[in-house]
Amino acid sequence: MLDFVVIFTKGGVVLWHSNASGSSFASCINSLIRGVILEERNTEAKYFEEDNLAVQFKLDNELDLVYAAIFQKVIKLNYLDSFLADMQLAFKEKYGDIPATERLGGDYDFDREYRRVLSAAEEASAKQVKAPKAMRSYNESQKSKKTVASMIQDDKKPVEKRVNIQESPPPSKAQQTPSPPASMDDIIRENRRKLREKLTPTKKTSPGDSKPSKSTASEKAGKKPRVWDLGGNSKDAVMLDRSKDAPEDVQYQNINSELVGTMQGVIRDLDVESEDEAEDEQESSEEEEEQLQSRKSKKSGGLLSYFKGIVGAKTMSLADLQPALEKMRDHLISKNVATEIAAKLCDSVATSLDGKQMGTFDSIASQVKEALTQSLVRILSPKRRIDIIRDALESKRSGRPYTIIFCGVNGVGKSTNLAKICFWLIENDFNVLIAACDTFRAGAVEQLRTHTRHLNALHPAAKHDGRTMVQLYEKGYGKDAAGIAMEAIKFAHDTRVDVVLVDTAGRMQDNEPLMRSLSKLIKVNNPDLVLFVGEALVGNEAVDQLVKFNQSLADYSSNENPHIIDGIVLTKFDTIDDKVGAAISMTYITGQPIVFVGTGQTYADLKAINVNAVVNSLMK
Ligand code: GDP
Repeated sequence: MLDFVVIFTKGGVVLWHSNASGSSFASCINSLIRGVILEERNTEAKYFEEDNLAVQFKLDNELDLVYAAIFQKVIKLNYLDSFLADMQLAFKEKYGDIPATERLGGDYDFDREYRRVLSAAEEASAKQVKAPKAMRSYNESQKSKKTVASMIQDDKKPVEKRVNIQESPPPSKAQQTPSPPASMDDIIRENRRKLREKLTPTKKTSPGDSKPSKSTASEKAGKKPRVWDLGGNSKDAVMLDRSKDAPEDVQYQNINSELVGTMQGVIRDLDVESEDEAEDEQESSEEEEEQLQSRKSKKSGGLLSYFKGIVGAKTMSLADLQPALEKMRDHLISKNVATEIAAKLCDSVATSLDGKQMGTFDSIASQVKEALTQSLVRILSPKRRIDIIRDALESKRSGRPYTIIFCGVNGVGKSTNLAKICFWLIENDFNVLIAACDTFRAGAVEQLRTHTRHLNALHPAAKHDGRTMVQLYEKGYGKDAAGIAMEAIKFAHDTRVDVVLVDTAGRMQDNEPLMRSLSKLIKVNNPDLVLFVGEALVGNEAVDQLVKFNQSLADYSSNENPHIIDGIVLTKFDTIDDKVGAAISMTYITGQPIVFVGTGQTYADLKAINVNAVVNSLMK
């Protein structure tokens, strides 16, 4: 029997619990939060023990929540996996729309859903336990049907098989599960599918459409082109060609759009789709069938193929796994994951597999896939949600400009992507002041001036109640960048500009004076967001850049709580094919989300990352 069930945020805020006597379990839950959840240690195990209590828990990386069931550790409860999955589903259905920052304990009326989910799980589990059978007569038994010859032991036969002859064979896993439609697994799967459909606004089916069958190619929906949909009127993408002034130079670039999501008015959550869904999307049209086949065959020979040789061992040891893990590490490095991070990922997979009971290749491959996917998704999922539109609106309401500072090394695309973000903000009806604080590189100010002109041409004041949508605040070259940013923010405040985007000079992470001045710029201007702009082409260098940027911002800040990097703009994603490793390296080091992905040279080439596609790319 369950003693206590609780839903809390990964930060430890309890949203709901099953009964009032929770205090006796508080210490156990606190230990789980401190020792496992916050440290992100061994969360793959989903099981934790303290004294005579055991906790089975489930993480929801999308909502940043933990569902935990506490029970006496001597008891074995076989329904907890499905119970917790259903709890998650029910809670998401009821409260999934509430943003993470607004999730405070107390107001979650979830008792009725809890009772429903629990009794369904208990019922399903009871069905699986066989009712005791009445004793059979000899004539009804298998034995009566055997010949004498068949009863003579054949030494060549495996012992288990001999035993099975005497009793009726144990039901296979499939037989143990009640047949549809009553199966809990089916219900859960169906509910998950519905929820996914609900949470995935881009995959709409027309009314009356049923889920397309995978088997008939003709029924497959054609793959819809991803469309820049920012809620504004302009659906055109404009080449960021600074030599051309006319905004009519409109063209789209074809990029590897599978790897990124579509940037919406409000930045979409990092989206983790199931494999089925990913396949659905891949299997989207007849023309793509051929491509798909070759992709699929590639996939089957992908990362998991390294584990093919490991069969037969009952209990997996590190020694068994080592050669395959090394190949897996090399594979990740070949996808541009920094060496250090690839090694850490392999360690975490090894730890979760070490000592596990293994049977067939299938189970090894699926265990590896599950462990690695969990690690990758956890790395790519933000610890906190960055919702620029919501925060900028809040700033606007309180009468102050929302400020973002962009930093990074030279040539990674700071100014270009700043301009794309500016375009996105204007499309969402914010007016913007660009602060030209790269007072170092010749041409930097002119580059921003050209962007300002283009953006205003796309969104003339006449279309926005006479408001000029973009202005440039510049003081030329050689001046103190921190001072210019401060003046710009004051100007924006006085003239009621909604958002200030601060461009800074590119700098190498080892350049102490420049890192010191960046730290000062951030400290004195106290921005809402510090975004590190890094290019997706970077390999091992990503680690050095980010570690040193963060370190310098902390060291030179002289603040007790220094403002370090809040998020990442990953640029030039259109140039890397499937070598998506930089996304992993950068988020691993900072623990911060990729807020934007730059996918080309038009204002429209700005997307939100698609975690599932990135993970799939790494697996291939
Ligand atoms: P900064 O020195 O960091 O400000 O870099 P710039 O904004 O001047 O960009 C350097 C170069 O990278 C320019 O040629 C840009 O057009 C190009 N660039 C920026 N972002 C992207 C992107 O997402 N994809 C591609 N292909 N090129 C980009």
